Amino acid sequence: MPSLQRSEENGYVGARRRLVERLREQGVRDPRVLEAVSEVRRHLLVDEALRDQAYEDVPLPIGDRQTISAPGIVAAMSEALELEGDETVLEVGTGSGYQAAILSRLAARVISIERIPGLANRARSALDMLGVTNVVVHLGDGSRGRPSEAPFDAIIVTAGGPKVPEPLIEQLAPGGRLIGPFGPRGQQELIRVRRKPDGEIVRESLGPCRFVDLVGEHGWMG
Ligand code: SAM
Repeated sequence: MPSLQRSEENGYVGARRRLVERLREQGVRDPRVLEAVSEVRRHLLVDEALRDQAYEDVPLPIGDRQTISAPGIVAAMSEALELEGDETVLEVGTGSGYQAAILSRLAARVISIERIPGLANRARSALDMLGVTNVVVHLGDGSRGRPSEAPFDAIIVTAGGPKVPEPLIEQLAPGGRLIGPFGPRGQQELIRVRRKPDGEIVRESLGPCRFVDLVGEHGWMG
């Protein structure tokens, strides 16, 4: 690697270390999640002009009026999924591929769905560039889930819908967890849904949040 590129990469390592400290102060505890944040090169997933902001705890534009979520919410949602490493996870809303890259280090397999073709293609290339091999990106309406590959141990929805899509609850394995932003546009609650081993469904709110729209059959109309 040329020396300028090497010193840039070293700078990003330091920026990631500071980000991890900030997330720890904000209450993220799971060491596997913190390690994943310290390793995933988020600067490679944003426009070159935005790279110096890549390790600030902010969402950034990725084109098509969509965003790469802020690292803090990515870490908090990843932690709330309580992953141990052997799970199959469904992600709705691939976007840049950042959340999928984090999940790839926390679970065995990630199936991610994106509705915008250009973003799905870019995310596939980005995940390849990051050396991620256990994430598959599909193009489609993730609000319907992916019945052919269900049930899932965990489901993460990274766009805000009016309510938890019923097909996603149906595709949750016994003991599985689903997390996502649901409620009125622009002022959702982060909701976690658990399917207990006996099949009972339990919902809890983890606080307010703000995401771009989940657009689809079980989301908002496009
Ligand atoms: N997880 C992404 C990341 O790490 O960069 C950020 C996701 S961005 C906040 C929300 C994404 O959800 C957008 O890329 C949007 O196109 C996508 N989306 C919205 N509705 C969708 C749907 N029904 N199915 C699949 N993707 C959807």
